[in-house]
Amino acid sequence: MKILIIAEHKNGALSEAAMELFGLPFGQAEVHAVAAGEGVEPLAGPLGQLGVAKLHLINSPALASYTGESFGQALGQFIQQLAPDVVLAAHTPQGRDLAPRLAAVLDAALATDCIQVSLDGGQVTARRPVYAGKATAEVEFNGDSLKVITVRPRTVKAPEPDASRSVEVTEVAVELPGQKTALKEIIASDNVRPDVTEAAIIVTGGRSLGSAENFSIIENFADSIGAAVGSSRAAVDAGYRPYRDQVGQTGKVVSPQVYIACGVSGAIQHLAGMRTSKHIVAINTDPEAPIFQLADYGIVGDLFEVVPQLTEAAKNRNRS
Ligand SMILES: Cc1cc2nc3c(=O)[nH]c(=O)nc-3n(C[C@H](O)[C@H](O)[C@H](O)COP(=O)(O)OP(=O)(O)OC[C@H]3O[C@@H](n4cnc5c(N)ncnc54)[C@H](O)[C@@H]3O)c2cc1C
Repeated sequence: MKILIIAEHKNGALSEAAMELFGLPFGQAEVHAVAAGEGVEPLAGPLGQLGVAKLHLINSPALASYTGESFGQALGQFIQQLAPDVVLAAHTPQGRDLAPRLAAVLDAALATDCIQVSLDGGQVTARRPVYAGKATAEVEFNGDSLKVITVRPRTVKAPEPDASRSVEVTEVAVELPGQKTALKEIIASDNVRPDVTEAAIIVTGGRSLGSAENFSIIENFADSIGAAVGSSRAAVDAGYRPYRDQVGQTGKVVSPQVYIACGVSGAIQHLAGMRTSKHIVAINTDPEAPIFQLADYGIVGDLFEVVPQLTEAAKNRNRS
């Protein structure tokens, strides 16, 4: 079986989510990786250390910034040449945009947001959450057609880079005439903290914070432990936080190592966005709050008392 990993990168570095794809159990499969962009040669070093048989670089000024159209065209052409059995991408905003486009262009089977992928003995199966995470569907791919799969970030551990590995690198030429869209400008967000989809730790606040100003309690705690700040939809709707922080069914889906929910009830739509977190901590005044059913650790208490104490403890630990 021939597998192709799409190596997403940003500002000259491989994305964490892309590196995790190399940690999937590939067995005897022949694993290839492709990096597309402008000036992607420096990625060959770190990619080679992750254990692939062959690395393909698609270099073009037209790929200097991501657009679904240009990357879809470039990777579509390359995938037709390489003819892999499976294409893997991370379920990031880019992967979510690119994978369905590739599947449509290449008439491939598609499974997105998978939390488990099995490539045993030539049979490909994948598991993906459905019904807002209340159930998991097992997807079996029939026939020989190409399979395009996106994998939810932080569900697989990235392999340790091994500097003794070497990789065969090929340059791939593609033709990208007449692009209908062009990226004019990227306006950076003013968020100084990690994005919730990339963070290993998230501290989330809910409606109970009561105001945008009170969210400084959550921010201070997050900063003391290097976490991102998340929000329930109720807090976003109340104007306490920007939408980019919203976790849940209509917000972002996250899977951090630690998720700390402060004054969040645990409505099903919120759980849909964070239930695959590795460790869940809940702080809530109501011992019956649904979030406690999912939490690994719970503190029944007032967040306005508990969170500052945790912040102080974290700061003391950082100092010592
Ligand atoms: C179609 C649809 C999509 C939705 N999508 C999302 C989504 O993406 N994300 C999302 O979050 N929600 C979503 N919702 C809304 C969801 O149903 C809930 O209304 C929302 O999650 C509640 O937010 P909350 O937990 O902050 O507020 P509440 O449900 O009001 O809970 C507040 C909690 O804080 C506790 N509390 C109060 N004071 C304190 C204190 N001082 N200290 C500690 N605890 C305290 C209370 O006991 C309570 O449990 C969606 C709803 C619909 C219908």
